Amino acid sequence: SGIVPEHGTLLEMFRASLERGPGTEAIRYFDGVLTLADLDEASDALALALADRGFARGDRLAVYVQNNPAFVVGLLAAWKAGGSAVAVNPMNKAREVTYLLADSGATALLCLDELHESVTAGVVASGDTRVGTVVTCSARDWQTRDDPRLFASPDGRAAADAARDAGTLDLLTLVEENAGRTPEPHPPEPDDVAVLTYTSGTTGVPKGAMNTHAGMVFNTCTYRDWMGLTSADSVLGVAPLFHITGLIGHLTLALLLPCPLVLAHRFHPEVMLDALREHRPTFTVGAITVFISLSTTPGARREDFSSLRVVYSGGAPVAPAVTARLREATGMFVHNCYGLTETNSPSHMVPLYADAPVDPASGALSVGVPVFDTFVRIVDDDGREVPVGDAGEIATSGPQVVPGYWGKPEATAESLPGGELRTGDVGFMDEQGWFYLVDRKKDMINAAGYKVWPREVEDVLYGHPAVREAAVVGVPDEYRGETVKAFVSLNSPDGQGAEGAGGGEPVTEDALIAYCKERMAAYKYPRSVVFLDDLPKTSTGKILRRQLRAGTRENDQPA
Ligand code: ATP
Repeated sequence: SGIVPEHGTLLEMFRASLERGPGTEAIRYFDGVLTLADLDEASDALALALADRGFARGDRLAVYVQNNPAFVVGLLAAWKAGGSAVAVNPMNKAREVTYLLADSGATALLCLDELHESVTAGVVASGDTRVGTVVTCSARDWQTRDDPRLFASPDGRAAADAARDAGTLDLLTLVEENAGRTPEPHPPEPDDVAVLTYTSGTTGVPKGAMNTHAGMVFNTCTYRDWMGLTSADSVLGVAPLFHITGLIGHLTLALLLPCPLVLAHRFHPEVMLDALREHRPTFTVGAITVFISLSTTPGARREDFSSLRVVYSGGAPVAPAVTARLREATGMFVHNCYGLTETNSPSHMVPLYADAPVDPASGALSVGVPVFDTFVRIVDDDGREVPVGDAGEIATSGPQVVPGYWGKPEATAESLPGGELRTGDVGFMDEQGWFYLVDRKKDMINAAGYKVWPREVEDVLYGHPAVREAAVVGVPDEYRGETVKAFVSLNSPDGQGAEGAGGGEPVTEDALIAYCKERMAAYKYPRSVVFLDDLPKTSTGKILRRQLRAGTRENDQPA
């Protein structure tokens, strides 16, 4: 059975919600509340300012902002002005930002004041990009309650003033100045790019996935209909909005229902726990590490999680032992879902009321079944379908699959031959139609000719009660070519966090190796284990295996 989205574009979708209830709460941000009408007015003002400065149909506005209301305003304004948004990871540094701005050809930029001061002022001045219009905003816009855990600088306004002095526009000033004016309509078309979302994907070079209005609307409806969400729900923003999980699983979803989206600038476990207690959100989706972190934060209580009636984990492997432990500690039933930037978030989901099966041979938790209207094949290197049960590359087609990468026809032809997405993920389907992910093709470890999939070893490590996070990589080895190395962080020995989340006494390297050796073939078990306080992660919460492999702890560097 399929779904036919009732809106052609995200802007139509937003306007339909606005007409139904302009006073509906759209964003809760600390003590600030923005209604749909507030978002409409602010984005009108920004769209007007952009148009006044020559922003025209098809142009790109880069949005370099954390999980602040300004992010949402920026997207709506780009669409109202007839253009697209470019989502920029706020953790990116000057080199990466320059690449994204130049690659996307953005002519306008909406930027957090602090990031403008530290990063984009220099980038724009360098002349390496086409950016001519810069609008700055503050993390404090639309709220008055400062939280020292998130806002390091005592006076964010000073940064805003400094930025304005440097010849930029200030978002809130624009909103005041343009009150009551509406921009000329430039309605986008369903196949227009709504957001360019950069992903390194399988090749390592950041590529702008062309997330169209049609694709984004489709999967926004997928979330709503698959999970039975309504305007009585509310969404907790644990994933960054610049990433596809946050874009669709938080932002556009909340605009569609419509319902409040609870935002907190950036992920900080204590702040998120406060938000859970204060706003009692009913739905969220994020990487599994987010839920591990929340449940093991000192002071976390089981009842803190009781409002979350629907919780999905996506974007990274999930060990069955972890979901079981989370359920015990928090009462949360975390479901698995699978997708990529190129599939506008989900291509597969576990049905809401199902208990996903675990593959007896590999120990993998199923990622679910393909969502509405989505067709998935498991193929060999030549693109031929393999028999049911055999592993191969996951190849996906459906209305949510992007048409390609911005300005990169070769990469598009390689990853999307005939419009079918070659995901770079190895997986299989069982006789009942459940899908399982083996791992990423490029992360396979070749130990003396034996294939070792890191996920399987990690799943076993997660089975140990003391292990909080685990990541497994291949390291060069004179004898085997490559050998298996594990990085783990441990639960605190005193069992702090939600009830039952603690893991008893810390363990030694030898004990963990022995634990794995007992449970897997000799070529698979880790030969060394490194203990870290925390494993390095992307801002979405994905554990960075490539960084562990490289032995560095920088964050979020595109390769
Ligand atoms: P980047 O390298 O730019 O951070 P990425 O390659 O991680 O991006 P994304 O689109 O963010 O790209 O993530 C998609 C990938 O995440 C998938 O290809 C898959 O490997 C992994 N993934 C997503 N969901 C799951 C899941 N439920 N279980 C295991 N892995 C998953």
